[in-house]
Amino acid sequence: MSLTREEIRVPEFKGCRQRPVLRQRGQHEVFCGLTGIMWLHRKIQDAFFLIVGSRTCAHLMQSAAGVMIFAEPRFGTAILEEKDLAGLADMNDELDVVVERLLERRPEIRLLFLVGSCPSEVIKLDLSRAAHRLSKIHSPGVRILNYSGSGIETTFTQGEDACLASLVPNLPPEPEGAPASLMVVGALSDVVEDQFARIFEQLGIGPVRFLPARLADDMPAVGENTVFILAQPFLSDTARALEAAGARMLPAPFPLGANGTTEWFRVAAEAFGVEPSLFDTVTQAPRMRAQRAVENHRKRLEGCSIFFFPDSQLEIPLARFLHQELGMIPSEIGTPYLNTKFMAPELDALPQNVVVSEGQDVDVQLDRCLSERPDIAVCGLGLANPLEVKGITTKWSIELVFTPIQGYEQAGDLAELFARPLNRRTRLEV
Ligand code: SF4
Repeated sequence: MSLTREEIRVPEFKGCRQRPVLRQRGQHEVFCGLTGIMWLHRKIQDAFFLIVGSRTCAHLMQSAAGVMIFAEPRFGTAILEEKDLAGLADMNDELDVVVERLLERRPEIRLLFLVGSCPSEVIKLDLSRAAHRLSKIHSPGVRILNYSGSGIETTFTQGEDACLASLVPNLPPEPEGAPASLMVVGALSDVVEDQFARIFEQLGIGPVRFLPARLADDMPAVGENTVFILAQPFLSDTARALEAAGARMLPAPFPLGANGTTEWFRVAAEAFGVEPSLFDTVTQAPRMRAQRAVENHRKRLEGCSIFFFPDSQLEIPLARFLHQELGMIPSEIGTPYLNTKFMAPELDALPQNVVVSEGQDVDVQLDRCLSERPDIAVCGLGLANPLEVKGITTKWSIELVFTPIQGYEQAGDLAELFARPLNRRTRLEV
């Protein structure tokens, strides 16, 4: 189906229902944006992520990706030594040498990200100028971009947002007279991406492109005929950059669970004028499979209370899925940032009495959690052990980003991720 810009129906963003939000500004416990490299380097197969950081940054990456130390990883750290931090060496010269050596050794690299860190930001090393300078030397063979993965005031999923936002100004322009196209935005595992592509094809929606693409030279074009739909909820900067490039965003819930996935596809289908009967025919079988797979975990999860600490920015869509499809009772849903525009469809599906909190004051929030004693708490790694010691079952939020959880075929696995820690505690108690 080939449509023009005018034929695409982009619905209005509706504001979320009036809902009080508890805003917290205190100490917060999160990982830094470097963590995003863990899944991004697997996604873009000819990219390399060169962190300009300290030994701490290198240790974080190595321990997070310990299994990869014997392979040729697609990330590394240019370590800032004391003389660099003291301003005694010309960092730009040193960086040029490191990049030169890297590209000589790894000729398959087509896209190089210089990734900023806390130390590089503290010494105000201008990586955007470095990327510009190095691009001139190494283009057209290698494109060099930069973004910040620093942990100063960020959450770990913002690393992906910053990375994708840095790609947007470098996306190719739409060819003249190109039909309207759909861009799916957010790094998805290849298996999920393939499933989504198949369903879009069956619906007759196209052309459909994914950002990021698997190869640097295959990134989607962007322009006024592009509409995009977010597959991940933490991509505010990327969405803004795409809108600045002329693309229009489709407001949709996120594709988690049978309902979320159906509504996500429905928004795209309505925008592209797909007949409701075709939509039902295409989605019915996978939707029912997903419902059955989720249902297998209902007995374990129904009626269980769940408390979300703010970490991944997936908290609100996850709470909606667990409440709507499994009957769990969210007591508090913490999120690092609340984008009411993106989250409106999700917030509308939550019970009115649930506490939605934005930001963190970790001690106060721990007190709230301990007094509520939820059946399960979703939190960062740093809070998991202290909570487990107090008898509260936990789920690491980072696991929900590493694991393929979007779409129909993953809905059962997503439910299982919450059932498993509860089952384990039951077994330990026997
Ligand atoms: S970027 Fe900052 S928070 Fe992240 S590992 Fe490096 S020093 Fe630590």
